[in-house]
Amino acid sequence: MRYLILSDIHANLEAMQRVLEDADDFDAVLFLGDAVGYGPNPNECTELLQAQPRLTALAGNHDLVALGQLQLSAFSSLAAEAARWTAAQLTPANRAFLRSLNPLLDTGTALLAHASPRDPVWEYLESEHQAASSFRLFGSPVCLVGHTHVPRIFVLDESGYVRMRQPGAGQPLRLDPGRRYILNPGSVGQPRDGDPRAAYAQWDSERGYFEFRRVAYSVISTQEKILGAGLPSLLAARLAHGR
Ligand code: ZN
Repeated sequence: MRYLILSDIHANLEAMQRVLEDADDFDAVLFLGDAVGYGPNPNECTELLQAQPRLTALAGNHDLVALGQLQLSAFSSLAAEAARWTAAQLTPANRAFLRSLNPLLDTGTALLAHASPRDPVWEYLESEHQAASSFRLFGSPVCLVGHTHVPRIFVLDESGYVRMRQPGAGQPLRLDPGRRYILNPGSVGQPRDGDPRAAYAQWDSERGYFEFRRVAYSVISTQEKILGAGLPSLLAARLAHGR
């Protein structure tokens, strides 16, 4: 199966559209959560997501807060302001779709977690030590996570040692059948690794290849919409820096 892997779209329609144009042919889509929050097009992005073939989707913390399922007080003031705006925008149909999603799902081929297997809503999986704890909680060869907005590879080797790597864009990672992996594709709509281009991944589960990809999109168009919607200007500014 050839999977397109998307995470943390954050209502950024320009980035999402460019990713869908840039992707190679795929059979199914895996979405790791945070369709909405921060960005100016929550309904359009939720609808475009639902239109994808053979979609398996998770809810992220920003989806859950927009639905009233998490407290606003758990978020930064910037994120809370965007969540309030998003909650007021979402149509009943899009709310119902997002409400149907969970932050953790075992597909049989892979474990999908918005944040981490240990804490699927909140944990920022950023160290080998954290990854070692998560590897103990699932048995499949591959776990896919989002949430940090930073592309990452965690590999558990045959001797039980975990290594973390920053992936290179466009370089296929050959998945070794003797090892297990936690892979984060990075964020479509709000990258935070210093590269403002939209991040996503492709996975050929039969051939055992995983590829991290980046594609430039019109940041200025998204920024203009953020400012036009009256969302905090910092949310527009950060897209130019990928921070
Ligand atoms: Zn996010």
